[in-house]
Amino acid sequence: MDSIQIKDKKFTVSIKEEDILKEVSRVANEINRDLAGKNPLFLSVLNGSFMFTADLMKRITIPCEISFVKLASYQGVASTGAVKEVIGINEDLSDRTVVIVEDIVDTGLTMQRLLETLGTRGPKEIHIATLLVKPEKLKVNLNIEYAAMSIPNDFIVGYGLDYDGFGRNYKDIYTVVNE
Ligand code: 5GP
Repeated sequence: MDSIQIKDKKFTVSIKEEDILKEVSRVANEINRDLAGKNPLFLSVLNGSFMFTADLMKRITIPCEISFVKLASYQGVASTGAVKEVIGINEDLSDRTVVIVEDIVDTGLTMQRLLETLGTRGPKEIHIATLLVKPEKLKVNLNIEYAAMSIPNDFIVGYGLDYDGFGRNYKDIYTVVNE
């Protein structure tokens, strides 16, 4: 399928599964090399990273644990607008090597919030693994050690990412067509 329609938007294929998996394998190899002996705890951020997490973890060969967190938006008490709360951290992070597994880093504000929250739980170190990064949009300074791919500043769906809840199931990544 070269193009798909989701609600009011048309998308065309931009990164094929085969190319995604090559980069996911590269990232997995780097993590296997860098974090050997550290028994890392991978924290996958749902929903968007479910496919990336599955393909990445199949290629991680060092002893490790995997868990899942979610970000819930709630209205802040002040005039700060929507604030994101991290829910579902059941593990003891103290003295652990943690790897956050995200779908995409856009402005980086979500990742910054995650780092702040997880940082209060006493981990030894926190690493970032993301499927995608949009470097043109980054607003904060992040040390993204493991990024599978960099993309331009366009809206994408597929391979776990959605548009209004749809499109997560596609195995390739699609970019919106601006008409
Ligand atoms: P940030 O806080 O870095 O600006 O935004 C990160 C979140 O925005 C991602 O976890 C993802 O949910 C969403 N996001 C950013 N860019 C895209 C995109 O191109 N497509 C989709 N489907 N979600 C995106």
